[in-house]
Amino acid sequence: YSAAESPVQGVGLFRTELCFLDRSVEPSAEEQADIYAQVLEPFAGSGHVVVRTLDAGSDKPVAFATLEDEENPALGVRGLRLALGNPGLLHRQLDGIAEAARRTGAETWVMAPMVATLAEAEDFCSQVRERGLRAGVMVEVPSVALLADRFLDVVDFLSIGTNDLTQYLLAVDRNNRQVASLYNSYHPAVLHAILHVVEQAHEEGVPVSVCGEMAGEVGSALLLMAMGVNALSMNASNLLKVKAAVRQVKASFTRQLLNEVLAMDNGEVIAAYVDLQLDKAGLGELLRNRKALV
Ligand code: PEP
Ligand code: MG
Repeated sequence: YSAAESPVQGVGLFRTELCFLDRSVEPSAEEQADIYAQVLEPFAGSGHVVVRTLDAGSDKPVAFATLEDEENPALGVRGLRLALGNPGLLHRQLDGIAEAARRTGAETWVMAPMVATLAEAEDFCSQVRERGLRAGVMVEVPSVALLADRFLDVVDFLSIGTNDLTQYLLAVDRNNRQVASLYNSYHPAVLHAILHVVEQAHEEGVPVSVCGEMAGEVGSALLLMAMGVNALSMNASNLLKVKAAVRQVKASFTRQLLNEVLAMDNGEVIAAYVDLQLDKAGLGELLRNRKALV
């Protein structure tokens, strides 16, 4: 596989926990470095790779980082909370990532999942920078979206995780079928929260990307572009479709569409309106073979 032959420009979200879901013993820093290097290697010299530290807990149980039973794991010890509570775990992972970056020469950015406070972000980012890498946090918890401007002094970049941000803004478990119909990333609260983060980041010249499912779905990807998001990270299976859509519509069209939907109050109406407008603009074919939002 050669990244040079691919339409992929870097990796926007390397979910490291997927390498370790079934491990009952934590891999050493050296073993982690070998694994990360395999992912980084093809991108040496082209784009950059955003490595997310272990997002264990809640819907992603990792055997070696097993937790006590929790009544409400989505609001419990997960993501960065787990890492900061087990400093050795985080040190070993960051050492492994730094070693893989050094070995491959790939430009490596490191970000933390499930950040809720500025103190957590400061602690994490200083540990990443000590190792000579760029540091950022995910915007998944509403506290970070609301106070985005304060995080900008601390981070080199932000990445909005719209899957969890939607879940936490709307108080809807994204994996609970009973409330699935309430889970809607077009909800105006979600759109306005994203816009707020992007506007704040741009005032400070900090790059902001989106790495949730919204980035891989044609209608929402176009809205995100219109908001000025710097990079969209998606599954390879959505890449060509989204690229085709971006090329097919004018920026003035998506800006107008964004302005219209920002004034609306109902997420389902917004989703239907976006579909209708894109259909009219000749993107019906690209819309119809879309993947459902999470
Ligand atoms: C997200 O929450 O949007 C995200 C990208 O993280 P994950 O889907 O892995 O929780
Ligand atoms: Mg998430």
